[in-house]
Amino acid sequence: MLCDIAWGIAGVEMAVDRGDVVVIVDTLSFSSAVVTALMQGVTMIPCAEREHADAIAEREDAHISVPRANTDEQNPFSLSPLSYLDATPGTHVVLVSPNGGACAEKASRVEHAYVGCLLNAQAVAEHIATVAAENDKDITVIAAGENSAHHNLPGEARLLFAIEDYLACGAILGAIMADYTAEAAVCTNAFMNSQEHLDHLLKNCIRGRQLIEDGYEADVNHCLQVNHYSCIPQIRGNVIVAHDAPEEIEQPVDDTSIQETVEEVDDMDKWPAELIALRDEALECMRCDLAETRTHVVFGEGNPRTKLMLIGEGPGDQEDKTGRPFVGRAGKLLDEALATAGIQRDDVWIGNVLKCRACVIEDGRAKNRPPRADEVKSCRPWLESQIKIIQPSVILCIGAPAANLIIHRNFKMTKERGQWFIDSPFAPNVMAALHPAYILRQHGEAYESSLQSLVDDLKVAWERSTEEPPAKPQLTLF
Ligand code: SF4
Repeated sequence: MLCDIAWGIAGVEMAVDRGDVVVIVDTLSFSSAVVTALMQGVTMIPCAEREHADAIAEREDAHISVPRANTDEQNPFSLSPLSYLDATPGTHVVLVSPNGGACAEKASRVEHAYVGCLLNAQAVAEHIATVAAENDKDITVIAAGENSAHHNLPGEARLLFAIEDYLACGAILGAIMADYTAEAAVCTNAFMNSQEHLDHLLKNCIRGRQLIEDGYEADVNHCLQVNHYSCIPQIRGNVIVAHDAPEEIEQPVDDTSIQETVEEVDDMDKWPAELIALRDEALECMRCDLAETRTHVVFGEGNPRTKLMLIGEGPGDQEDKTGRPFVGRAGKLLDEALATAGIQRDDVWIGNVLKCRACVIEDGRAKNRPPRADEVKSCRPWLESQIKIIQPSVILCIGAPAANLIIHRNFKMTKERGQWFIDSPFAPNVMAALHPAYILRQHGEAYESSLQSLVDDLKVAWERSTEEPPAKPQLTLF
């Protein structure tokens, strides 16, 4: 195992091309904010450019970080690690950072990508040493560097050497027993020889001086604590979570269960002929590009005489493989929540706004992506036709993206979950609940309370759907 240090996005790209274990280090902002936030149970979503943050936040029902000086009650999160100390567990934050965030986005392409700094140097070092040994990989620690505001240079050309990142890289590398490149060896020695002067060095480096001048000395004091936390942030797809958090990626199912599920879909004895005809037509649909990458059209399933429809945004990997909605880990949690709410899966209709998986192929692997507006538009008639046939009195949107499409744009799950919307063209009563995939990302109390909220919403939606419609007034002569 060889340990190396590299700089900025170019360094990440080289490490990714080699398939190394990668650690992103941006000491006085991104990395320390991530580590501190994860210690509070917050999930972080790195974002290099502010102009993309709104769309990500909308999709993930997340807060957006703002510049330190712009924080207020509505926007409490920034690159200041201290802004996360009072965060509610389960919160999601889009962390906008042109250095660390950009490096983390690039690093998400490798299987083993982490975030480190002085705060968690020992913990992350021990973990990556094990991962690298088990997988026969080399390690590259990335110093994100600083952008110079004084030069009118494009992209990487503006990257400045940042001693705080270099020293934190040395703290991580120095805790690993391995061979070092010449650069990594010097970096490790730099940290060892500077340990006693970290306070002085971090307060007098370019970024440290700036932060102190702007009134953020407490941030610097927080970031220079070595091995203060044991958290190991792992970059998984578009999010950063603690490495022992449950996998968001759906677990593969074996061929036997896939066969069984496809047969269950084919069991449509109780479906009206027009629904069967609609399904037959949808299975052949080529209206949008998603037809080219899908394995199965996921039409939806359940009781066509139900008054309650559960609608998610679109199929994922396991749904695409099986042709059935909500069958992966998230689907199993939905089944559990339904059972706890006293509802059989067969009592309701379960489907999605999109009938085919939206994915992008990266490094030979299909990764979920948000559907484009034109894909949603092309697919909408299938959902409308289903609703016309089934005529539900209640639609429960599963997750914020489905609520964005069915209830209204910019739907905020934190504020609007559990509210009834009675002016929807889709059904007389529409509400939104947490997506089970979101619940799977929570830990401890946050997991229990978010699962309970899904159960409660299912119960409320079911009760509303089984209420007798108000009797029509009787005409009398008097
Ligand atoms: S996503 Fe919808 S519109 Fe696009 S191909 Fe699939 S079924 Fe047709």
